[in-house]
Amino acid sequence: MPTTDPTPITGLHHITAISGPPQPNVDFYVRDLGQRLVKKTVNFDAPDVWHLYYGDHDATPGSILTFFPFIGARRGHAGPGMTSAFGYGVAPDTFDSFAGRLKGTLTERFGAKVLRLSDPDGLAVELVADADADNTPGAFHSATLWLNDPEPTARLLADGFGYAEAGTERSAGGERLRMELPGTGPGRIIDLWRADATERSIPGAGTIHHIAFRARDDAHQDDLRERLIGLGMDVTPRIDRQYFNAIYFREPGGVLFEVATDPPGFAIDEAPDALGTALKLPPQYEPRRAQIERVLPPFKVPG
Ligand code: ZN
Repeated sequence: MPTTDPTPITGLHHITAISGPPQPNVDFYVRDLGQRLVKKTVNFDAPDVWHLYYGDHDATPGSILTFFPFIGARRGHAGPGMTSAFGYGVAPDTFDSFAGRLKGTLTERFGAKVLRLSDPDGLAVELVADADADNTPGAFHSATLWLNDPEPTARLLADGFGYAEAGTERSAGGERLRMELPGTGPGRIIDLWRADATERSIPGAGTIHHIAFRARDDAHQDDLRERLIGLGMDVTPRIDRQYFNAIYFREPGGVLFEVATDPPGFAIDEAPDALGTALKLPPQYEPRRAQIERVLPPFKVPG
């Protein structure tokens, strides 16, 4: 039997999405939003594609957004069975400066101001001024899952990870059920969005591939894996992702979930002050470094 307490996790670890060419992506997340590029590596399953990691200054789990940029990728469209948006927390007293500088749509949700932006590939990025959230610069506030039926997903989040329902809110086009973890950590809110209209999801640039939840270490991940299997989920064995260990499963609404460990972290192969400055390859691709460097599309990080 799982031995974890009823509140087994603290929040999101990372979010992974697909983008078009890297340069507009880097410009948006680094120059416009102030994130730090904390790791430049390749897709471990296809090393001719970048894997770019953005985070807060210290590359803290709960702030990590990663992209697979494909030149010429067809633009996708969020819909049921996908994570359709994510939010960064911003301190309420800095919200107006973001809203004045960035072009987006202003709205309000559960009493907090929200600035809804579109990244260069059309991905919905929200800045949320929630006084009750962790507003460390660069940390996630929440992620939104688009679901035809939120109930089975709500149950899974509660029984598997310790989330509790925190209210529903109707707004233009649908209804949102908020699921929340206790505590003060980053990324402890998951909103389950049911749209009034039927839409089709199309994977591609500007869509989120998966979201990952935090495990403290391998033992905690084992515990969560056992718990999830007990709830009927089909969970992969552990996969070494160099900066964390990962397990994956599809939740009942069709969204791809991952559980990722905090250790070893992003400073395993680069000094903290040099994060994101050099192309880092896992050991199996080091012999092919010169060839990989030739095919990766170049980009410049705004200074
Ligand atoms: Zn992942």
